[in-house]
Amino acid sequence: MSRTTRVSFAVVTLAVLLASACGKEGSPPVKGPAAEKLPNYQVAQGFQLPDSKTWERARKRGHFTVGAKEDQPYLGEKDPATGTYSGFDIEIAKMMSASLGFAPKTVRFRTIASANRETALQNGQIDYYVGTYTINDMRKKLVGFAGPYYMAGQSLLVRADENDIHGPQDLAGKRVCSAAGSTPYQRIKDDYPKAQLVAYDTYSVCVDNLLTYQVDAVTTDDAILIGYAAKVPDQLKVVGKPFSKEPYGIGVPHGDNALRFALDDALEAREKNGDWKKAYEATLGLSGVPAPTPPAIDRYPAS
Ligand code: GLU
Repeated sequence: MSRTTRVSFAVVTLAVLLASACGKEGSPPVKGPAAEKLPNYQVAQGFQLPDSKTWERARKRGHFTVGAKEDQPYLGEKDPATGTYSGFDIEIAKMMSASLGFAPKTVRFRTIASANRETALQNGQIDYYVGTYTINDMRKKLVGFAGPYYMAGQSLLVRADENDIHGPQDLAGKRVCSAAGSTPYQRIKDDYPKAQLVAYDTYSVCVDNLLTYQVDAVTTDDAILIGYAAKVPDQLKVVGKPFSKEPYGIGVPHGDNALRFALDDALEAREKNGDWKKAYEATLGLSGVPAPTPPAIDRYPAS
């Protein structure tokens, strides 16, 4: 067999293995949450937000355009057959739309990679962004953040037969993959310079590279990695303890304080009326982690 034939043979075998592992009894659903388990969000009647340019633009258009991820199981996943997005972030996006006066089914999702989020919000490509987006001071100079609505932490994903990697201290000389423009990528670069860091646009490409022995570990938030591991538990595992705090916020255009505060109010209301918990249980909760208490909303001053 030539090298190319062998490689493509390995890839096909892997694809078959993945497909059979995913279809196995007791393994989590491949297509994400069951539609009938998802909550219905009551739509605010007569809601107005004239001080928000973003909201006014959506009103004229008749719907929100929301940035999201499409390859993160339980969080933001797009069904390639139907084009439908599902997951916890998607539910957050829908309940926010309902609180701002637009029926959840009107939301149009657009996939935006980690490295392109700020630009997408700055140039008006999207109205808001819900996709494992960590709130931090550097990003706050470029965009606004409502929330946080969830607290994640950076972790490591390795192959099931890996015995040498237990935490970031073991990454020296190892090939580690993360997404360009992400906080986990930056942390490895700054704090663990002996790791051989590689970046792709998405974590799913990193996971493919892990399964085909191109890299030794994938690093990002635990919430994301748990989803990949749950799909092929025989082949992948999450190791060690989370080694950062990643508070997830809803990204909004910088300076649209009216929208940001309205989203803060909406998150608080949906946490209080039980919608947040129901949404969690129907999506991210499928990974087996019970619903945590959501973090306190950080309503920072107008900027
Ligand atoms: N929460 C981290 C970040 O915002 C990692 C996940 C992601 O890239 O979306 O950078």
